[in-house]
Amino acid sequence: MNNKGWPTALRHLTLSLLLAWFLGWLCGLPLLAICLTLAGFLAWHGWQLHRMQTWLLNQNIVEPPEGRGIWGSVFDDIYHLQRHQQRTQKRLKGVIQRIEDGTAALKDGVLMLNNQGNLEWWNHAASQLLGLKESQDIGQPITNLVRAPEFKAYFDASEYVTPLEMPSPANAEVQLQFQITLFSQQDRLIVCRDVSHIKQLEAMRQDFVANASHELSTPLTVISGYLETFLDHQDTLPQRWRKALKQMHQQSQRMESLIEDLLMLSRLETSQLKDHGPVHVPALLNELQLDAITLSGEKRQHIEVDAQWVDMTGIGGELSSAFGNLIFNAVKYTQAQGSIQIRWWQDDAGLHLSVTDNGLGIDSPHLPRLTERFYRADASRHAQTGGTGLGLAIVKHVLLRHDGHLQIESWLGKGSCFTCHFPLSRLAINLKRRA
Ligand code: ADP
Repeated sequence: MNNKGWPTALRHLTLSLLLAWFLGWLCGLPLLAICLTLAGFLAWHGWQLHRMQTWLLNQNIVEPPEGRGIWGSVFDDIYHLQRHQQRTQKRLKGVIQRIEDGTAALKDGVLMLNNQGNLEWWNHAASQLLGLKESQDIGQPITNLVRAPEFKAYFDASEYVTPLEMPSPANAEVQLQFQITLFSQQDRLIVCRDVSHIKQLEAMRQDFVANASHELSTPLTVISGYLETFLDHQDTLPQRWRKALKQMHQQSQRMESLIEDLLMLSRLETSQLKDHGPVHVPALLNELQLDAITLSGEKRQHIEVDAQWVDMTGIGGELSSAFGNLIFNAVKYTQAQGSIQIRWWQDDAGLHLSVTDNGLGIDSPHLPRLTERFYRADASRHAQTGGTGLGLAIVKHVLLRHDGHLQIESWLGKGSCFTCHFPLSRLAINLKRRA
């Protein structure tokens, strides 16, 4: 707004009133002359206001009306403000259009939800992946449109650390991965992507490993069978062959355990957890203790079991394999005369199994990667023990299938403690104890 407008208008009004008063005084009617001047002044401003209103209300008139004095600068100022606003609006529309074009070109579905969980906006890919229709689904709660119980549980949990994978509600053959992000005030941004291809490749990889391991196991059994037979009659063999045959036998046994572990891992990855019943863990640990003593052999380690009379639900074979791997590792990586303690107990936090040894221990940088397949903390150590490098990967998978997790604590040169934690929901009613 032009600030000079008002003083000029006031000056004009004062001059007009003085002139009117002078002329009125000459005619002997100064008051009437002033009133008539004021009325004319008001009428002129009223007319200008009317012109402004007509201009502002009529969208078709772009240019402002011609105005003089204060009204000329008011019209100009409003016109410039309007033009500035129009330019800003156009720029913002352009930005929104570009964002819309960009998200429409995305292969991943993007959805925006308000803090009530109602749909506010989504892109083209989301419509296709989830079968949404703009006309009827806008403003609807997402949990009414994606009705799977696992989605509702994931959505309500409000903790979105890991993504959720499930079949698409629009096409059960399409496997989707959902990742939710909270923003602003509990509003949610959902990104869903089609992971069917990755799943297929993963399944192919799993099938390949399972088939290759299966196919290798038969010829290997034959080879190690013959090697055993030869070794049984080693007295009849030339001396230079005996050492070679022993080594061949050792290596074939290693390959057999490797194949066994690979098959076990692929079973854990592919099969559903169905027949889980009560597992009497103390008895299972006593059996494993006997096996561990046999494995310890001349090392004569002190292996102790302290188990509460508590059962858990699960698959006995899988749990035995996981606990066995931890116990046998303790035997393998603990020096002669060392001590190994196996504890099984229940508390308010859940069910726990720990295997503690005072053996070689592991340097802390290795700890986060120990459950990766074929990861070894120390290659030379592994060469002596002849492990497969798959033991802890099996433990991790078994625990995952039993809602549990593995905690690893270790101190180089002092020993290690591997603890399996299970939730209380895994507690099984022990009928013998009740009786
Ligand atoms: P491996 O067949 O080589 O034992 P695992 O997956 O069972 O494979 O273990 C991975 C690595 O973790 C081992 O190579 C070893 O270096 C380390 N490790 C596992 N358990 C222990 C333990 N109780 N004490 C020291 N090191 C261990």
